[in-house]
Amino acid sequence: MNILVVGGGMAGLTFAISALRLGYQVTIAEKNNRVGKKISATGNGKCNIGNEFVSIKHFNDSKIASTVLHAINVDTYKHFLHSVGIFTYTDNAGRMYPLSDSASTVVDCLRHTLQDLGGIVIQAEVTRITAKNGKYAVKIGDNTHIYDKVVLSVGSGSQAPAPNTSALIGSQYLTATYPSLVPIKVTNNDPTLNGIRHKCNATLVADGQNLYTESGEVLFRDYGLSGICIFNMSAHIARNLVQGKQHDYQICLDLFPTLTHDELTAILQARTHLPVDRLWGTLLHNKLAQYVTKRANCPTDAFKLAHTAKNLTFNYSKLLDWTMSQVTTGGVDEQHLNLRNLTLPNGIICIGEMLNVDGLCGGNNLYFAAASALYAAASMD
Ligand SMILES: Cc1cc2nc3c(=O)[nH]c(=O)nc-3n(C[C@H](O)[C@H](O)[C@H](O)COP(=O)(O)OP(=O)(O)OC[C@H]3O[C@@H](n4cnc5c(N)ncnc54)[C@H](O)[C@@H]3O)c2cc1C
Repeated sequence: MNILVVGGGMAGLTFAISALRLGYQVTIAEKNNRVGKKISATGNGKCNIGNEFVSIKHFNDSKIASTVLHAINVDTYKHFLHSVGIFTYTDNAGRMYPLSDSASTVVDCLRHTLQDLGGIVIQAEVTRITAKNGKYAVKIGDNTHIYDKVVLSVGSGSQAPAPNTSALIGSQYLTATYPSLVPIKVTNNDPTLNGIRHKCNATLVADGQNLYTESGEVLFRDYGLSGICIFNMSAHIARNLVQGKQHDYQICLDLFPTLTHDELTAILQARTHLPVDRLWGTLLHNKLAQYVTKRANCPTDAFKLAHTAKNLTFNYSKLLDWTMSQVTTGGVDEQHLNLRNLTLPNGIICIGEMLNVDGLCGGNNLYFAAASALYAAASMD
């Protein structure tokens, strides 16, 4: 069987290697000048390639994700990684990284294995796929080729040019899409805080109800808030948007998660006699201290200062755009996909981030991209 894989990212490369090992002929069409370009940028160049504690609760509510994660566990994934020369370590949070701490070595392992197995790469964009008599006529660059099977792994427009997914398969199979794992613009921030990091508990509040809380470092930016816990909040907002749910959101930061309100009040009570610029000592970065004091609007009221610092609330304005997002929420809808082999009604296999599956930060998205490829290759008819 002659298979075309459209897109040479984590999903496409993993599928191609798996199918070549099963004895199929495989060609990858990749519009970039090299395969694995996005992988090279992951994990700040270190590539957080998976998560030892991968779980459906770190993904959107998706039958595709639960089917794939049920079938492909961490051992199966690691077995694949080892088979191509990718050896990993795991940090305290379960995040898996290559021992080299280098994303480019991950790309090299995948690329070399593909070559060793005889995989072909055509550097051109696929612009049309026509299913005819059980085969597929595919326009790659200026030429049309015939394949027995087509696998789409075109990814998303997060920090990449948007793929032409609806032109290839038709928009009827796709949900709306939104950028996810992205900074959040807020209306009432102070640009002078730009660049300050602070460890806190961050809570996403939707219409007055707490929706999601995570502990971690928030990075204040001139436009709003960033950092891993803010990225994960953005996923919850983006998933609601895909479902057409609009809410009035606020982000509430507890700047002192290890102190109770009473403890913080007592500490500040003993310091309110000091000049305002000495009030917070080493409790907060100077600029953040000034901002909290201003928001509390009464530098001598320890109770009010503590309350403000433990409930520093920002009004959500919008998610930042695709150029800042790590993944995309939405994509090929599970309603139209045969979950047994991830095929559309016309037999085209869809894998990776182009599916309506998105994971939180921590290696979940590369894991899913590869796991969906391993699952689809193993269940191919
Ligand atoms: C900056 C950044 C950091 C990230 N860090 C992490 C991390 O540390 N850990 C993690 O788990 N996830 C991370 N992610 C997310 C992760 O990289 C993606 O979820 C994953 O790479 C998706 O893989 P994919 O193969 O499905 O799609 P992609 O990697 O997007 O690959 C799709 C490929 O298809 C090609 N293509 C598209 N359309 C066509 C066409 N018509 N013809 C030919 N080729 C086409 C594209 O050029 C692309 O190469 C990060 C993402 C970004 C942007």
